[in-house]
Amino acid sequence: MITGNVRKLLEEIPEGIEVLAAAKTRTVAEISEAVAAGIKIIGENYVQEALRVHEQVVERARWHFIGHLQTNKVKKVVGIFDMIQTVDSLRLAREIDKRSYAIGKVMPVLIEINSGREPQKAGILSEDAVSVIKEIALLPNLAIKGLMTMGPLAGNPEDARPYFVETRLLFEKLKEMELPEVEMIILSMGMTNSYRVAIEEGSTMVRIGTMIFGPRSCDVRT
Ligand SMILES: *Cc1c(COP(=O)(O)O)cnc(C)c1O
Repeated sequence: MITGNVRKLLEEIPEGIEVLAAAKTRTVAEISEAVAAGIKIIGENYVQEALRVHEQVVERARWHFIGHLQTNKVKKVVGIFDMIQTVDSLRLAREIDKRSYAIGKVMPVLIEINSGREPQKAGILSEDAVSVIKEIALLPNLAIKGLMTMGPLAGNPEDARPYFVETRLLFEKLKEMELPEVEMIILSMGMTNSYRVAIEEGSTMVRIGTMIFGPRSCDVRT
């Protein structure tokens, strides 16, 4: 089932747009099957779970952290991940910088935008993004590669469109500003129910869980 899902998805996605498999709660076997079928990027939300499966998945893939990251878990995350998509504060960025420096790494990151302006959600508000990004850009062991957004959970994919538009406009504005040490290459937005709309609105990376692996039976946190 996973192999077929991945093939169908990769056929549909236009060239130049990357597909990340959002693998929270999935087994090593499921993740391995997705990679064997052509997935190149695995996304994980929970640190303990990620450490466990990362060790056991032998297929070659890039690993992106896509969950909410607490500063006390950063040390573990910088060791195994190729990108952190959820940098949502200067404080977190400073910790990533410090821990990356300690292991001689420059960590690629995306800045998470709270496009839905939801108080309970992580992410930086659009209007604060430029000033926070200027500060983060000064940190030598962290490399800004673009933006990521979730947008409010919506039943109807069309409801997500305004949030994707807002984030893309910010992405384009930042690109035009050409801030030192700030690259705007990756715009990570769109999930199973919204990826088509996200691609129409300029996404360069979609994060797909359910459509690849099937419904999650439960969100067990380990
Ligand atoms: C789970 C998750 C996804 C994928 O969600 P689906 O609806 O299962 O495709 C994408 N992004 C993040 C940050 C997630 O946690």
